[in-house]
Amino acid sequence: MESQKKVIERLRAAFRSGVTIPQHFRLTQLKALLSLLEENETQILEAMHKDLAKPKFEAVLSEIDLVVNDVCFAINNLHSWMQPNYVGTNLATKLDECFVRREPLGVVLIIGAWNYPLQLILLPLIGAIAAGNCALMKPSEISAATEKLLADLIPRYLSQECFAVMCGGAEETKQLLENRFDHIFYTGSQAVARSILQAAAVHLTPVTLELGGKCPCLIYGRLDIKAAAKRLVWAKYFNAGQSCVAPDYVLCTVEMRDALLPAITQAIEQFYGSQIQKSVDYGRIVTDRHWDRLIDLLGKSEGKVVIGGEIDKEEKYFAPTVIIDLQESDALMQEEIFGPILPIITIESLEQGINFINQREKPLALYAFSDEPQIVTTVLERTSSGGFCSNDGIVHMTLPGLPFGGVGASGMGSYHGRWTFETFSHRRGCMFRGWGLERIGALRYPPYKESNLSW
Ligand code: NAD
Repeated sequence: MESQKKVIERLRAAFRSGVTIPQHFRLTQLKALLSLLEENETQILEAMHKDLAKPKFEAVLSEIDLVVNDVCFAINNLHSWMQPNYVGTNLATKLDECFVRREPLGVVLIIGAWNYPLQLILLPLIGAIAAGNCALMKPSEISAATEKLLADLIPRYLSQECFAVMCGGAEETKQLLENRFDHIFYTGSQAVARSILQAAAVHLTPVTLELGGKCPCLIYGRLDIKAAAKRLVWAKYFNAGQSCVAPDYVLCTVEMRDALLPAITQAIEQFYGSQIQKSVDYGRIVTDRHWDRLIDLLGKSEGKVVIGGEIDKEEKYFAPTVIIDLQESDALMQEEIFGPILPIITIESLEQGINFINQREKPLALYAFSDEPQIVTTVLERTSSGGFCSNDGIVHMTLPGLPFGGVGASGMGSYHGRWTFETFSHRRGCMFRGWGLERIGALRYPPYKESNLSW
């Protein structure tokens, strides 16, 4: 296998040659990426099924179609994104042409996580290509089938001079990070993000960190309980709870909880049937180690399991589970659950719910369920989170017009749609001057006269 150094040198030489700059090249690569997705859908679905038993519908919706939509959006808008933005001038610069030009950063590194193994590599790649960069991709070794498929397909469709995939886990990634990149785009845990930042600091490399955390779902006031339960169950148990934007826990009053529980039971049965383990629409936990972590978390919890709790290690099956009567100190409330366990924490007032959220790290997503607009607005205005969605979960991240990313401990920077293009671009402030207006310009030359300042 080609060494890391050689691959990076190859990408850097390609970038320096200027091959990625023309719009035509970027469009060709984006269209090649589209062909990759269209011509290999079956293989991609098989790989993700091998990795996570991803139901076909979920894989198409949240991985393939999401990337296809984003790449089409980039193809359709690339020309306008690449245009300079002209800015206003003042008296002294009246005859000048002043504009912001988007320029590529160079060779960028994209490191992905395993839970959405396709889109977490390809969505950033779309913006990297659109902005004219070369890119090295490092998919997660945990979703091994998709990792290998990406390593096989990308060189077959995209320019091998400009784009490459490297496989491997923590050790290989640490080695990669010793090299100089012009941007590092990392998706994964907060713990690893700290070492990414440290490695980036050595070369003063800018980073985007797409991290996780505990996304709250605050349910309050008047609303249609059955509809709320369906949307909550869908968002929580999609990909067997292994979504960075899955509702991590629910905050609601005791009365709301007692009304919600039968509606949640009903929604689970309606979605996955009475024998959930046999449902083709319910995924699996990615590895034994991740399954063990969930069992450990549940075992340490002082709460009461009221829905689900069934497990089967051989199949890495973990039933959709709801747990109540937890303390704030409960293990389940100390870290991101990242699995199909839903704690319901009771509150006595909206104020208490808002305080509960604000006492913790800023989440990647915050959900407010209520039919009363005043309640939704109050939650939005009094809290901070990467993204926000009222009366549903996850869906806000499917729109290319909305920036997707964290704030505080849930990440830095954002992407999707034009935002990815911006992430991988340098905004160069440019001024084209001629030789006119020299008499006005001469007022700034020494020997200085204070009276000239009034100009
Ligand atoms: P992870 O941090 O273990 O791994 C992510 C990547 O980092 C992998 O490619 C892995 O090979 C590499 N890696 C692992 N250890 C490393 C080390 N010591 N040094 C350098 N690289 C290392 O994360 P994960 O378990 O794959 O992902 C789960 C986390 O990612 C959750 O917190 C989840 O919320 C978050 N996530 C966030 C988003 C988002 O868009 N914000 C999306 C998916 C997942």
